Order: sequence, then structure tokens, then C-alpha cells
Amino acid sequence: QSAWLKSLRDVSAVTKDGCAVQLLANISEPADLDQVFENGGEGVGLLRTELLFLGRDSLPDEEEQFGFYQKIALKAGKRPVTIRTIDIGGDKEAPYLGLAREENPFLGYRAIRICLDRTDIFKTQLRAVLRASAFGNFNIMFPMIGSVQEVRAAKAVLQEVRKELAEEGVPFGAEMQTGIMIEIPAAAVIADLLAKEVDFFSIGTNDLIQYTLAVDRMNDQVAALYDGFHPAVLRLIARVIEEAHRAGIHVGMCGELAGDPHATRLLLGMGLRSFSMSAVSIPRIKQQVRETTLTDAQCIFEAAKGLDSADEIRAVCQSVN
Ligand code: PEP
Ligand code: MG
Repeated sequence: QSAWLKSLRDVSAVTKDGCAVQLLANISEPADLDQVFENGGEGVGLLRTELLFLGRDSLPDEEEQFGFYQKIALKAGKRPVTIRTIDIGGDKEAPYLGLAREENPFLGYRAIRICLDRTDIFKTQLRAVLRASAFGNFNIMFPMIGSVQEVRAAKAVLQEVRKELAEEGVPFGAEMQTGIMIEIPAAAVIADLLAKEVDFFSIGTNDLIQYTLAVDRMNDQVAALYDGFHPAVLRLIARVIEEAHRAGIHVGMCGELAGDPHATRLLLGMGLRSFSMSAVSIPRIKQQVRETTLTDAQCIFEAAKGLDSADEIRAVCQSVN
């Protein structure tokens, strides 16, 4: 595998007919960056920041968080890194927050919902990220957005933090772009409205599939129903990409579907040009990109549009032109 990997690491992710595709990685901590570079990732499409908050007795303070993000900034250099604000709650528990037990944690108090309520926690994270962004090329994104009002509220807190830092004379990166995860079906449906509020979208298929199909992503008994090729999921994804293009904002994907080689051509055909995945998946996806043409990819998308089952769509995706 290593000769194969090496041969792919330094070539670019360009289709046979010359369309450049951005391949990024999902990471959780600074050490993960080594693997990203080894596999030829151009940067980080998703930094999950939960690791900083889990498996401990108290909240990490601003300095601890700053150190963590700064390490990533210094290691990544000019490469882009998209930092996602905390996505605790759901399956990811942090006992020191004293969160109540919930009947349906995945539909409950989590991620941006906690942050907009506990702005003390949110602001501390934003201060640390902004300060570290002076050392690298950071973007920031908010998870689990379901409405325009949530985006506005999150952006207002970000703006407040920027103002405070400026007043204190603390340096921070001025260029940082602001985006949101599209992982709740409501967000996909109102993508046209959300696109007016942000610089970019990142489609989180792990949760988007779970919520669209009402299938728990962790439950083995319904695992067969959890399917990214379901026409409902694909319609939502296509819609988000189309609305992002219409509004002229960047759109990427950071859910597992981005690292599924069977989905690459279909997603390219929908117009997706930025994929973020586990670092180890990058060479395989790069190979897919290099072996296809945009014309083939668009044909696959056209063919898939009329089909009514995930299995048929998957078969079209696996067909060789
Ligand atoms: C997603 O939901 O697709 C995603 C990338 O986020 P997470 O897997 O951390 O929920
Ligand atoms: Mg998610």
C-alpha cells in the first residue's frame, strides 16, 4: 500500500478533464495532522473540538484551548483548517456540565443549542480560536444549525468576542470565514435562506442521514436503513450544493459519505468540489477523482435523479463508463 500511497500523495486531485477538487481531512487533535500530510490532504475540513471537552472533570479554560488550537495552526501553516465549535450533548457526554438525562439526546440539548444558552462556554472557545487564528489559516463553523435565527445569534456572539479582543488589543486573525454545518434536514430545506448569512456550508452527512431517515446512526438493529444513497438524502445534498452555488458561497462535505469512493462521481456530478474525510480515505478518493471526467460524473447524477431506490442509485454509481 505504501508505494501506491506515495505515488498518489504528491499528485493533484484533478479529474481527467481538468477539474480541480479539494481533498481535506477530518481531525480531532494536533497529532492527527501527521496522517493528513502523509495521505496528501490539503488541509482540514473539520476539526472536531469535542476531545478537548470530554473525559475530564472540568471545562478547559481559554489558555488550554488556545494552546491546543495554536498547535494546530502552527503545524498546518498556510493550509486551511476549519474549526467546528463544540458539538457536545447527543452521544458525547461531559458530566461536569451537569446536563440532564434526556429521552432523546440526539434531538435534545446539544452543540449550538448549548452554546447559545451557555454563552460563557461559547465565548471562551471563540476567544481561544480567534486568538490562535492569528497563527494560521482558520475558518470557523457552527454545528447543528436548524434556523436562520440560530446562525444570526451565533454570529452576534462571534462579533462580540471580536470586539472585545480588539478593545483589549489582543491580536487575532482578521480573515477568518464563518460557516455552518448542514446536518439537520431543516437546514438543507432552507439552504437558500441560510446561504445569505454565511461564507460557507459544510454538509455533515452522518447526522443528515440519521435525521432525514429517522434512523439512529449508532443502532445496529436499524443499520441497514441508514443509507446515504437514499433518494431523499441525495435530493437534500443536491439542493444544498445548488443553493450554495446560486448564492456564490463555498460548499464542502465533511460527513462519511465524502470518503466513500462509490459516492465520489455522484457528488462531483452534483457540483461538489470540496471533500473532507478521515485522512486514510484521501488516497482512494483522489484516485477516484483522477480516474473520472466531469462529464461522466454529471451523467451519473442525471441517471441517479430518476431512480427510486438506494440500491439502484448505488448500482449506477458503481457502473463503469
Ligand atoms: C456529520 O454529522 O456528518 C459530522 C461530520 O459530524 P459528526 O460526525 O461529528 O456528528
Ligand atoms: Mg454531526
